[in-house]
Amino acid sequence: MNSKKQIAIEAVLKAAELCQQVQNEMVSTDAIQKSDRSPVTVADFGSQALICKAIGDTFPEDIIVAEEDAESLRQNSALLDRVTDYVKRFVKGEVLNQKVCGWIDRGSGEISKSYWTLDPIDGTKGFLRNDQYAIALAWIVDGEVVLGVLGCPNLPHRLDDPDSQRGCLFVAVRGEGTTIYTTTGKFLGEARVSENASRLAESFESTHGDSSTHAKIANELGLNKPPLQIDSQAKYGIVARGEASLYIRLPNPAYPDYRECIWDHAAGLIVVQEAGGKVTDANGKPLSFLSGRRMIDNRGVVATNGTLHEQVLSTLSSM
Ligand code: AMP
Ligand code: MG
Repeated sequence: MNSKKQIAIEAVLKAAELCQQVQNEMVSTDAIQKSDRSPVTVADFGSQALICKAIGDTFPEDIIVAEEDAESLRQNSALLDRVTDYVKRFVKGEVLNQKVCGWIDRGSGEISKSYWTLDPIDGTKGFLRNDQYAIALAWIVDGEVVLGVLGCPNLPHRLDDPDSQRGCLFVAVRGEGTTIYTTTGKFLGEARVSENASRLAESFESTHGDSSTHAKIANELGLNKPPLQIDSQAKYGIVARGEASLYIRLPNPAYPDYRECIWDHAAGLIVVQEAGGKVTDANGKPLSFLSGRRMIDNRGVVATNGTLHEQVLSTLSSM
C-alpha cells in the first residue's frame, strides 16, 4: 500500500503542476466540448496521461477506470500536439503523440476486484473559470476505497483567510487518517471534521444539485452561515478539515435520473471518512463502487461531520 500511496501522490502532484501551467497559459482552443456537451481541456488529457503513465510504469497489471479517453484527441491533431507539449515538460525521453494517447487510454479499464479510479480534472467548469478544481485518484479493493489522493491546486490553506497560500493535497489511507500537504509536498496537518462548522457546502454549478432543497435542509438543521458554493471534490476536503459540516448533492429537479460517476466521489469519500466524517447517498445507502462507472444504485450524495448525518437523512426522508 505504501508504494501505491507514494506513486499516487507523486503522480497527482505532477498532474496538478501541469494543470496550473495550462491554466496560466490557456488559449481558447485548449478547451473543447464532449459529446455530452461538457467541457474537456488540454489539462484534463495531460493530467490523465501523466497519472496513467505513472501507475502503468510501476504497476503494469493495475486496472484504471478514468473519465477521459483519447478518441477525440486522435481526430484533433492540433489539440493532441498541445497535450503532448505539456506532457513533455514532465516526462523524460522521447514523447510522441501516439504514446500520449496510449497512456490516456490506459484509463479505459473495467470495474474489477481492485482498480484505480481517476478524475484527471474534477470540476472542469471551475478550472475554466480560474476557480476551484481537483485531481482525484482512488484505489478500490472489493468495492471499498482504501486510498484516496485529492489535489486541489487553487484551494486556499484556510478558507477564512483569503490571503493564505493556495494548493492543498489530501491523502487518505483506510484506517490511517487523512493528511493534508501543500501542492509542493509540505506537511500541513491532519484533517479532522468539526462539530461546529455550522455550514453547508454545495456545487457552484446550480445544475449539479438542488440548491433550494439544500437550503431547506440547512435551515432545518440550523446551519445559519451562507452555503459554500465550490466546484469539484474540494468540497469533501472542506468537510474533512472542518470548514463545513455538510456537503450535500441532491439530483437537480431537471435531471431526476442523474447518477453520479465513481471518479467524482471515490477519493473525496475516503478523505471525509478518515477525517472522522460519514458519507452515504441521499437515502442513507453506502456509495457503490462495484455497480459500474455510474453509481446506478445510489441517488445523490450526503457527506457530513458524522454527528449530523442521521439528522440530515431523517430531514431528507420527511421532505
Ligand atoms: P461539481 O464541481 O461538484 O459540480 O462536480 C463536477 C462534476 O459534476 C462533473 O465531473 C460531472 O461529472 C458532474 N455532473 C455533470 N452534470 C451533473 C448533474 N446534472 N448533476 C450532478 N452532477 C453532474
Ligand atoms: Mg468530475
